[in-house]
Amino acid sequence: MIAEKMKNMVANSSAIRAMFEEGNRLASIYGPENVFDFSLGNPNVPAPEAVKKAILELLDESDPVVLHGYTNSNSGYADVREAVANSLNERFGTKFEGKNIVMTVGAAGGLNVILKTLINPGDEVIAFAPYFGEYRSYTNNYDGVLVEISPNTVDFQPKLDEFEQKITPKTKAVIVNTPNNPTGVVYSEETILKLAAIMEAKQKEYGTDIYLISDEPYRELVYDGVEVPYLTKYYDNTIVGYSYSKSLSLPGERIGYLVIPDEVKDSADVQSAANVATRILGFVNAPTLQQKVVAKCLNEKTDISFYDRNRETLYNGLTECGFECIKPEGAFYLFVKSPIADEKEFCAAAKKYNILIVPGSSFACPGYVRLAYCVSYETIVNSLPKFKELSKEYF
Ligand code: PLP
Repeated sequence: MIAEKMKNMVANSSAIRAMFEEGNRLASIYGPENVFDFSLGNPNVPAPEAVKKAILELLDESDPVVLHGYTNSNSGYADVREAVANSLNERFGTKFEGKNIVMTVGAAGGLNVILKTLINPGDEVIAFAPYFGEYRSYTNNYDGVLVEISPNTVDFQPKLDEFEQKITPKTKAVIVNTPNNPTGVVYSEETILKLAAIMEAKQKEYGTDIYLISDEPYRELVYDGVEVPYLTKYYDNTIVGYSYSKSLSLPGERIGYLVIPDEVKDSADVQSAANVATRILGFVNAPTLQQKVVAKCLNEKTDISFYDRNRETLYNGLTECGFECIKPEGAFYLFVKSPIADEKEFCAAAKKYNILIVPGSSFACPGYVRLAYCVSYETIVNSLPKFKELSKEYF
């Protein structure tokens, strides 16, 4: 018999995965070119050529015993951690050292390491809806309680009044994700300044430590020259979780890192606990070959122009049909208002046209649907007449 806690997890298991399987089923019936699967955030732009070159060079040049061995520290190779720190310092004017970096098994691994490090049972973790649904599972892994801030559907910046009211003496962490999955919104500097001020004041009021966790797998995926503020500069108690899944199109390789700056409260303890968490969660260390690969590719990123063209075409196509959505500034998602209150019913209607989209309730924001436009340009273009037909059911 499986564990009680897992029974709930299985029952609530991601609607997105189910969609993915449905996409495969429809493709086997109608042919993949006739299925418009916008369900999964799996990049379809290949990793930069430099990644392949780095892998081949590493295999040729390295001592295989070292390259494929356990790392001395569970936090990763010292030279890789240093290279990551230096690259961040160059880009953001920070002062990180290798000891501030923990190499992780993607952003998901990083979030689990840091929540394991920080959360006591019953501690509260705040997330702003709409948010990546796995935050709930990750918090639950450590018997934390996810506290949700309701969505601001005007511009999808966080609702700061509600945030201020919902911080309690039990609040241990706040997760922000910008550029955001599922909205594509980038939180403005003004938002970040206000959020930081609220958190500072609440730490003082309660005499507690409230950690800000910046989950940023989409940092490099921004359009029209939009700037994404680097959050450690705004609030001392900030920990950054980064991933190469989207920036280098390496989601299956499971590589990312945490930044735990010296300014973080009890920084040395947090760093060494994260090192232990990496080991005892069973990751042991982030994949070694991939650590070395990303260290050689720190200035590389995936071809954003491809996503940008998809963004423009899909956004224009859908709004011309009468659908409402805010134009994303980052990531590769479009968050569209369902023309009917029950967005699950709308998703079911879309499926009649072989269009697969994800209900907003998966992101704690019912009444909306998410489209992942990390698909081929042909899929976008060919889907538009189908969206037009779908729109005629409502407008
Ligand atoms: N956080 C957000 C907001 C995501 O959208 C995802 C993946 O889609 C992750 C974390 C997990 O990413 P990774 O593949 O790096 O574990």
